[in-house]
Amino acid sequence: MTSIQSKLQKVILIEETSESFDVLQYADFPRPEISSPTDVIIKNKYSGINFIEAYFRKGIYPSKKPYVLGREAAGEIVEVGENVKDYTVGDKVAYISNGGTFAQFTKVDSSAAHILKLKNDASDESLKVYGSALISGLTALTFVDHAYKPEKGDNILVWAAAGSVGRYLVQLISSRGANVIAVASTDEKLNIAKKLGAKYLINSSKDNVSEKVAEFTKGKGVQCSFDSIGKDTFETSLEALAVKGTFVSFGNASGVVPPFSLQRLTQKNLKVLRPQLFPYLSDEGSWEKYSQKLSELIENKSIDIEITKEYPLSDYKIAAAELEGRKTTGKLVLKIPQ
Ligand code: NDP
Repeated sequence: MTSIQSKLQKVILIEETSESFDVLQYADFPRPEISSPTDVIIKNKYSGINFIEAYFRKGIYPSKKPYVLGREAAGEIVEVGENVKDYTVGDKVAYISNGGTFAQFTKVDSSAAHILKLKNDASDESLKVYGSALISGLTALTFVDHAYKPEKGDNILVWAAAGSVGRYLVQLISSRGANVIAVASTDEKLNIAKKLGAKYLINSSKDNVSEKVAEFTKGKGVQCSFDSIGKDTFETSLEALAVKGTFVSFGNASGVVPPFSLQRLTQKNLKVLRPQLFPYLSDEGSWEKYSQKLSELIENKSIDIEITKEYPLSDYKIAAAELEGRKTTGKLVLKIPQ
C-alpha cells in the first residue's frame, strides 16, 4: 500500500526556536526513505529524553527547520540500502543520532552511525533500557576516561547528581574510589545520590556550596567539578577547585557560561574543558569500546539504571517541561506509537 497516509509518520518537531514549550509540535511528517546505499531505516520503539533537546528548541544550538528532535532510540531495522552488509531487516538495535529519533522511523547511515546490535529476542524492556541509556551512559563513561580520570581519594563535585547523567557519574566516580560531593536541589534528590555512592551531600537550595566544599575537603578544594549547570554555577565551580583542579563544563541547564579571561585560571593553575560526547566517539574503535562497556554494566547489573518515567511520544511537551522544571530524577523515555 502506498497511500499518502502510509508515507507519513508521527514526530516531534520544531519550525522555530523559542523559550516556550509551545513550539514543540506533535505532527505528521514524511517518513524517511533510503537515499544512499549504506542507509538503514529503523522503526523506533523507545527514545530517551535528554536535556540537550532544550538547547535546540531555544536556539542555543543551531538546527535546520523543520527539525525533528531526539538523539537516541531503540527499535527494529525495517529497510536496508543495497550496500549494507552488517545489518538485516529484523535486527533489533539501539543507536545514537544527531537528531531525528522522536519519530516512528529514523534513517541513519550505517557506515557512519553509532548502532549497537541487540539480541534478536530483545524484550521491550531491554529496548527501553538501551534506547535511553546511550547518551547519558556514554557521556559519563567517556568523560571519566578523557575529561577527568578520577583517582582513589580524589574529591569530585558532581552537579545535578540525581539527574540522568549525574546518576551515572556518581556511580562511576565512586566505583573508582574517589569521593563524590553530590549537589542537588532537594533532599529527595540527594538521598538518591547517597544511595548510588556519593560520600558528601550539598543541597543547593539551602546550603552555601562553596562553604560546604571547603568543609568536606578541609579547605583544599576538589580535584574536579563536573558541572552541567553552566551560567549559574560557573563561579562556584571555579571557587571549589583545588590547585591544579579540572573544571569540566559540559552543559547549559541554567544558560551558557559567558566568555571569561584565561587569567582566571592562573591563581590555581586550573584546567578547563568544554567536552561533548560525539567527538569522544569519533576515534576508531571508541564507539565499539564504550558501547560494549555500557552493555556489560547493564547486563551485569553493575550500574543502577533508573527509568523514572515513560511518556507517549505525543506528551513530549509535558516531559520537556518537567525535565527543564527540575521536577525529575533519573531517565525519562518516550514510547513511540507503533
Ligand atoms: P538531568 O536529568 O540532569 O536534568 C537537569 C538537572 O539540572 C535538573 O534536574 C536540575 O537538578 C539541574 N538544574 C540546575 N539548574 C537548572 C536550571 N536552571 N534549569 C534546569 N535544570 C537545572 O538532565 P540530563 O542528564 O539529560 O543532562 C544533564 C546535563 O548534561 C545537561 O546540561 C546536558 O545538556 C548535559 N549533557 C551534556 C552532554 C555533552 O556531550 N556535553 C551529553 C549529555 C548531557 P537539580 O534540581 O538537582 O539542580
